[in-house]
Order: sequence, then C-alpha cells, then structure tokens
Amino acid sequence: MSSGSFVAPRRTLMGPGPSDVSERVLAAMARPTIGHLDPAFVAMMDELKDLLRYAFQTGNALTFPVSAPGSAGMETCFVNLVEPGDTVIVCINGVFGGRMKENVHRCGGKAVVVEDEWGAPVDPDKVEAALKAHPEAKVLAFVHAETSTGARSDAETLTRLAHEHDCLVIVDAVTSLGGIPLKVDEWGIDAVYSGTQKCLSAPPGLSPVSFSERAAERVRSRTAAVQSWFLDLNLVMGYWGGEGKRAYHHTAPINSLYALHEALLILKEEGLENAWARHAHHHAALRAGLEAMGLSFVVDEAHRLPQLNSVTIPEGVDDAAVRGRLLEEFDLEIGAGLGALAGKVWRIGLMGHACNRRNVEYCLESLEAVLSQLGAPIDKGAALPAARAVFEQGTGSAATG
Ligand SMILES: *Cc1c(COP(=O)(O)O)cnc(C)c1O
Repeated sequence: MSSGSFVAPRRTLMGPGPSDVSERVLAAMARPTIGHLDPAFVAMMDELKDLLRYAFQTGNALTFPVSAPGSAGMETCFVNLVEPGDTVIVCINGVFGGRMKENVHRCGGKAVVVEDEWGAPVDPDKVEAALKAHPEAKVLAFVHAETSTGARSDAETLTRLAHEHDCLVIVDAVTSLGGIPLKVDEWGIDAVYSGTQKCLSAPPGLSPVSFSERAAERVRSRTAAVQSWFLDLNLVMGYWGGEGKRAYHHTAPINSLYALHEALLILKEEGLENAWARHAHHHAALRAGLEAMGLSFVVDEAHRLPQLNSVTIPEGVDDAAVRGRLLEEFDLEIGAGLGALAGKVWRIGLMGHACNRRNVEYCLESLEAVLSQLGAPIDKGAALPAARAVFEQGTGSAATG
C-alpha cells in the first residue's frame, strides 16, 4: 500500500448527502488560508451571515454556521433551548426525530413523543392533541424534511400550533434548506438548523443555524448554564455576533467557510424560488422514469420530498449488490435504507448541484443496467423516454410534480 497523496475518485453523488460539489465551490475552498480574525475574513463572515439570512428567509440577527456538521446544529438548538426538567414535544417519523428525543434526554428534559409511521409526515392533529395534553411543554421539535424516509412535514402548520400553545419550535431543516420552500420569518420558526452537504452542495462539516429574538431571549434568561461549552450561544456569539468586533472563541474552519460562502452565492444567483422549482421539476422527471421502470415510491405523492426519493427495493433483489455495482461500474452513489427501512428501500438524492438533467438520466440508465444484469423484474427501456417526456414539457409543469 503506497502512502502517497490521496486522490479521490470522481463520483456522481445521488444519495442522502453529501451531494456533488461544483468546481466553483471546490475552487473557493482551495484559496489561501488566512487568519480567522483577519479583517478580510471578518468581512467575508458578515457577507456569509447575510447570505444565510437570504437562504433561510429571515432577518434574525442570530444566524451563523456552527463549526461542525448538521448534528451539531441539532445539538446547538437543544442544549441552548432546553433546561433540565423542561417538557419538549418531539415528533418522530424517522431516524432524525429519534435523535431529537435523545438530545432532549441528554439535556435533562422530558420528551413527550408524537409518533408517525416511517414514510408519513408528522400529523398536526396528533401534535395538537399532545400540546393540549401537556400545557407545561416549552418546545415543539420536528424534522421538516425527514431524510431517512423522504417525507415532508407541514412546518408552517406545526409552528402555528406550537405558538398557539405558547411553545417555541425547533425545526430540523438539514435537507430542506435550498431544496423546498422554507420561510423562517413568515412561518415564525424560532430555532432552525441545517447542513451544508445536502441541497447547498458545499462540503460537509458546517451547520447553518438561525434563532428568533424570542429564542435568543430564552437562551439569555436561562437559569442553568448551557452544559456544552463549545455550543453555548452566549459564548459563540462573541465571535460570530456584533458586526466588525470579534473575540476569540475557537478557530473557525476558514476554508470550509469560503466554500459555504460560494455555495450560498450560487444559490442567490439562481434565486431561491428557481432552486425550489428546479428540484420539483427534476424530481418529476426522475419519478416518471423510476415508475416507468416499475419501481414504487415509499412516500405518498402529496408528502414526497423532491430532493430525496425513497423507492422500494423489488422483491428478491440484493440491495448491497445493486449499490455496489452502481458505485464500481458507474461511479454512482445512491443511499441505502436507514433504521426501520434498512434493506427495504433505496434513497435517491437530487440535491443542489446534483439536481440536474444529466444526473437524472444517468441514474435511470445505470440503475436499469444493473437491475437487468441481476435479472430483476423491471420494464426495460421505459425509464428514459418517460423522464425525457417530462423534461420536454419544460418547467411549467413543475408545480404539480
Ligand atoms: C443529514 C441530516 C442530519 C445530520 O447532519 P450531519 O451533517 O450528518 O451531522 C440531521 N437531520 C437530517 C434531517 C439530515 O438529513
């Protein structure tokens, strides 16, 4: 085994993240590392916060990227907003809701769980019933786009219900940001976290977060100290807050932040609404192709995420063999099932830069080739024409997709 430089293979990333990173973002990341208190870097940080406010559709002052992946954004929300003894209503309809519950426990809180089937969205009626049954609840937490299943929940309605019962909301928007509508201020979301490697198509390792004034006030008025030193917003804000003035907290991941800045700039250039429409349109084409091939979706059409397509693995087909061949022969990565859906589904991502016509067609061709090699019962030759028919109709039909 040589110990020379690592040269990564060139893949097409159509799993649940990371998604393909563009040359433009990779080039930004390769620029010279400078000091994290350098005025040039501080000016870039201020721009970056503005770009994040655009992506989140918020004016929240407390908006910045946590220097760690999406899971750390999740933890930032919970450790700052939950105090020992607090009741938190947690919605679980997949893997990530389960992690929220774990966070509540570790903060010393009491989790009241509202469960829905994997593949279904969070049911607002059950949430309302839980809010009524637990007037002591302080926070409602749910996942907007459940990446483990591909289901979209109604963040606007859930947030309204929480506010009617005097709860703050914590929303997981790791997979939704940049892929489907997310309107932090219009919907009144109090605390939201995301990731860089899903629909933003920057490298993994950062977690954009945003907190409303109400949430910030809750953090300032805590009686117990935040048990995590690194994620304590009161301390982090000395570095990220206050335009221009910066105190050392930790060394920012300089080059990763260049990459996020560039990825957000690309999103702004395209326009959020256009990015949402692009995801919907390419999903419609991919769906047409997959269904023509004979595969079926796990999630109801009304609650399907365009950026995460879960399909049922046909009877008798070897999950790992298919994904292995796709990777080895086609340099194509798709996702395996997680948790309760492990071995039962594939998760095909259409996220950010990876959400393009070439990828849709390449995925359909490659999957068809591998499935027919393995003798799976699919309709050969049907997928590409079905997808192309959707592309030929243009984006006008995207809204119904
Ligand atoms: C990917 C993901 C996370 C975790 O993000 P990491 O960057 O892997 O830590 C959390 N929630 C959802 C919904 C995700 O898709």
